[in-house]
Amino acid sequence: NKVILLKNRPKGRPSLEDFEFTEEEKPKPNEGEILLKTKYVSVDPYLRGRMRDEKSYIAPFEVGKPLESGIIAEVLESNNKNFHKGDFVNGMLQWKEFQTSNGNGLNKVDGEKAPLKVYLGVLGLTGITAYLGLEKIGKPKKGETLLVSGAAGAVGSVVGQIGKIKGCRVVGIAGSDEKIDRIQEKFGFDAGINYRTTDNMKKAIAAACPDGVDVYFDNVGGEILDAALANMNKYGRVVNCGAISLYNKKETPTGPRVETTLIKKSILMQGFTVRDFVKDFGPAQNQLAKWMEQDKLSYLETVVEGFENIPQAFIDLFDGKNKGKMIVMA
Ligand code: NDP
Repeated sequence: NKVILLKNRPKGRPSLEDFEFTEEEKPKPNEGEILLKTKYVSVDPYLRGRMRDEKSYIAPFEVGKPLESGIIAEVLESNNKNFHKGDFVNGMLQWKEFQTSNGNGLNKVDGEKAPLKVYLGVLGLTGITAYLGLEKIGKPKKGETLLVSGAAGAVGSVVGQIGKIKGCRVVGIAGSDEKIDRIQEKFGFDAGINYRTTDNMKKAIAAACPDGVDVYFDNVGGEILDAALANMNKYGRVVNCGAISLYNKKETPTGPRVETTLIKKSILMQGFTVRDFVKDFGPAQNQLAKWMEQDKLSYLETVVEGFENIPQAFIDLFDGKNKGKMIVMA
């Protein structure tokens, strides 16, 4: 039974050296437990934060212990009346090929309704983050301009499509020309900016958003956030969803001070973690499923094969190697 542990707390950009691959005996389920086989593993930028020894909204990983993330697993054996052999479950599970669980925190998923992987993406926390971040904080209105960073990624690509459903002009920021083409052709974005080939993001955003920005959904933080803030309209809303450009920094950089921008333009800027809105998960998932049925919402996935490739797939997020949701098929 292969297991992946955190070997060191990464300094800066994570590397394979920070992970340890070990083997342990395949466990047996006790009374009330189920035996699970890992099928699909979600790798997510926020896991980088859990590798630091810092107090946060979620406990840090411990050195020498298995890592964990959102996983779809198959029930191989069940001593728990709520689960049956052959069921598939979704939940926060450890990076182990096989593990036992008492079932707490696991939700059954139906592979007939949608491909199982989708429950880690559009119909999982990714889609729910996009939907609720936009609904609760961004509140886009018809005719407004929505700017999204990380636009070709898992959350960003859903945010952009919801913006189009709501009748916004949608502009995306991403890290390659191919991604910019993709968000326009596949997801209906109106325009895109490749931040890696653009010298002056402030001017590029102004050019791509001639009426200014009403809602900025931020997945990356740092200099792109500064450039977006400079283009906000009066009463604009800034959704602080993520700040991946800062996750590997050893010190928090000090950027331009934004306070007067917010004051002069009466801008609302609010951070959130999706778990703030747990009670809204069900309705959010239903709405996302409905849009998918109506072909209003589509998705991209980058699927990496092999349990042992989980750490590399995670590291690759920081190089933008994924298009859409990054998933490992174990
Ligand atoms: P993505 O699928 O968007 O993958 C990460 C992407 O970030 C990469 O593909 C890359 O695309 C981009 N990126 C990497 N490094 C940089 C950089 N230095 N500057 C700009 N872009 C960079 O991941 P997710 O959709 O899962 O997550 C997106 C964001 O949302 C993350 O910041 C994450 O932490 C956050 N998040 C927040 C949640 C919440 O509850 N608040 C819940 C889920 C996610 P590119 O090629 O364009 O650079």
